[in-house]
Amino acid sequence: MSRIDYQGVLDEIIDEVQSEFGKGHVASYIPALKRVPPRKFGMAAVTVDGDVFSVGDAFEAFSIQSISKVFTLSMALNAKGVALWQRVGREPSGDPFNSLVQLEHERGVPRNPFINAGALVITDCLVASTVNARRQIIDFIRRRSGNAGLCYDVEVARSEKTHGHLNAAMAYFLKSHDNLNSDVEAVLDVYFHQCAIAMSCVDLARGFLYLANGGDCPLSGVSVHERSRAKRINALMMTCGLYDSVGSFAFRVGMPAKSGVGGGIVGVIPRVLSVAVWSPELDPSGNSHVGTKALELFTTKTGMSVF
Ligand code: GLU
Repeated sequence: MSRIDYQGVLDEIIDEVQSEFGKGHVASYIPALKRVPPRKFGMAAVTVDGDVFSVGDAFEAFSIQSISKVFTLSMALNAKGVALWQRVGREPSGDPFNSLVQLEHERGVPRNPFINAGALVITDCLVASTVNARRQIIDFIRRRSGNAGLCYDVEVARSEKTHGHLNAAMAYFLKSHDNLNSDVEAVLDVYFHQCAIAMSCVDLARGFLYLANGGDCPLSGVSVHERSRAKRINALMMTCGLYDSVGSFAFRVGMPAKSGVGGGIVGVIPRVLSVAVWSPELDPSGNSHVGTKALELFTTKTGMSVF
């Protein structure tokens, strides 16, 4: 197979997505996110050999939001093993990521680790199993991305906390079903902070390399997961990583990925690369509108997908 000109592909994509701006809306339910300029666009691809390709605002940090849930799932699986699956499911939700109705219907066992209720259970595992979960989470992500300077955006965390009543309701609901063991406010504090981590596309693409590389982190030289666990996390991204438009994302893009309401999406092509995109305008499901288009162009132009 001839070598792919990744830089050429990214350069074409930034030109071709220009007509897509203005069709989505920046998340406004977290006031600190509303201030982000809507037409930002960055994209980065990092190969498992460590080659980095980037375009646009690929080095500018933004709020990773739900993308953090992949990192915390990795940590919780390493801490708790398969016992975790007694507390959270592995099926797509088919409902909004913050649905209380589904949680009530299913008696406090969230559908999957990437909807908010599931992520709260995962964060609870970390609060219960570590002395300082906030420190452990940021350290884990710094090591995966090779950027020791990553930090929490305290303004975003504060904004989430002030307006996070639905997440608080979910956490108390989980507690009432004995599916949240730690102090509810302590879990919420860690959850709001993990969502408020600021990273660039380059940081995120590097940070997900261990999932593209069978569980081994090429940057730190550490084996984060055995191969089968990395496979399972990728499978969960494929089936649950894009809110309730995961089916059309698979149809259009064809790679395991995770999005966040900050406008980021990170995906992996196993054994080849990870790719991150950022554009803050969201579609009605909560995924970056331009970001989805950019990833669709990426898999089309490179001829790479998992299918
Ligand atoms: N912090 C956001 C929330 O809890 C995360 C949402 C997301 O990115 O999916 O609502």
